[in-house]
Amino acid sequence: MKDYYGILGVPKNASESEIKRAYRQLALQYHPDRNPDDKLAEEKFKEINEAYSCLSDAEKKTNYDRFGTAEGMGGFGPFSTGTGFGDIFGDIFGDLFGTFGQQRRQRPTKGNDLRYDLDITLEEAVFGTEKTIAFQRWENCKPCGGSGSEPGTTPEACSACNGSGQVRFQQGFFSVSKTCGTCHGHGTIISHPCKKCRGNSKVQEEKTITTKIPPGVDIGTTLKIAGEGEPGTYGGPPGSLYVILNVEEHPFFKRNGSEIFCEVPISFPQAALGADIEVPTLDGNAKLRIPPGTPSGHTFFLKGKGSPFLGNRHRGNQAVKVNVAVPKKLTQRQKELLEEFSALGGDDVSKSFRDKLKDLFTGVEN
Ligand SMILES: [Zn+2]
Ligand SMILES: [Zn+2]
Repeated sequence: MKDYYGILGVPKNASESEIKRAYRQLALQYHPDRNPDDKLAEEKFKEINEAYSCLSDAEKKTNYDRFGTAEGMGGFGPFSTGTGFGDIFGDIFGDLFGTFGQQRRQRPTKGNDLRYDLDITLEEAVFGTEKTIAFQRWENCKPCGGSGSEPGTTPEACSACNGSGQVRFQQGFFSVSKTCGTCHGHGTIISHPCKKCRGNSKVQEEKTITTKIPPGVDIGTTLKIAGEGEPGTYGGPPGSLYVILNVEEHPFFKRNGSEIFCEVPISFPQAALGADIEVPTLDGNAKLRIPPGTPSGHTFFLKGKGSPFLGNRHRGNQAVKVNVAVPKKLTQRQKELLEEFSALGGDDVSKSFRDKLKDLFTGVEN
C-alpha cells in the first residue's frame, strides 16, 4: 500500500486545504512541462496525482484511512473501479499531452523512410548490376535555408506567444501550457513567405542515385540505402531509402532459389541414339550430352550454371528437363522408315507395361 500522506508530505490529520496546498506545490515542481525528458519527475508527478486523487475525495479518503485502499474492502486496488487517476489527470492536465506532443515535434526527428520498387531482369538478379533510379523526395528548401521566409527577410516572433510557441493559461489552481494556435508552435510568423517553397520550408525535388545490386538478389530482396530518405527535422538524421526488388519473368528460364530451370525439346532419334546438344544458359550456350536411351522428361543438371545466393559466390545448378518431341508431319520416306522400324519391334516400348497388365489379370483369375 502506498503512503499517500507521505507522498504529499502532509500529516495524517492534515486538513483538506493543507492537502490541496501541498499537492499544488508538488505538482508545479514536478510538472512535466518544467521537467522535460525527466523520467523520475514524470513518475513522481504521477504518484503525486494518484495520492491527491485519493485524498481529495472524501469517500476514497475515508476508505483509504480505514482499509488502506481508496475503494474500501471490496476494491482490488486504489483505482480499480470508478473514477481514478485518469479522470483527474484529464481534468486538471487536459492539455498536457498536447504540450508533450509539441515538445516532441521540436526535438530532432529522423526523416521519413522512402520506398522504391525496382524491376530487374533475371540476369541482373543473378549477376548483379548497377542501377540509376530517380524519385521524388522532399528536401529542405535551399533558397530560404528551410526557414520558409523569403531570403533577406526574417520570420517575425509570434506576438500571441512571444515567440515561445506555447501559451500558458490558468486552469484550476495552476497554469498549464498549450501549443500556440497563431503560430502552431513555431514561435514565429512568416510575413514574407519564400517564393520557392511558399513558406513550407520544404520542396519536392527529383533525386537521382546510383546503387549497386549485388549478385544473387531475388524477388522481394530489400536494399537499404541509409541516409537517402527524407531529411530530418530540427537537426535530426535523414531517413533511409528502401529499394524493393522485383525480378521480371524470363521467357525461357525459371528460378527457384539458386537453381535455374529450363525445358529443352529433343528428337526421338536423339533420345534413342544419344546426342550432344546445345543448351542455353545465363552464361551463353553450353554443351549437354544426352546418353542413348534417355526417356522423355528426364532432367539433367549443369553444375554451376545456376544463381548464387545473396552474399555467397557459389552458384547453384541449372536443371534441364528434356522433352522428346513427336513430329507432327512426316515425309513419305520418314513414314516408310518408321514403319520398318516398327516392324522390326521398334514399337515395343510398352512391353514391360503389357507384361505388368498381363500379370495383373492372371492374378485376378487365380
Ligand atoms: Zn505563437
Ligand atoms: Zn523556401
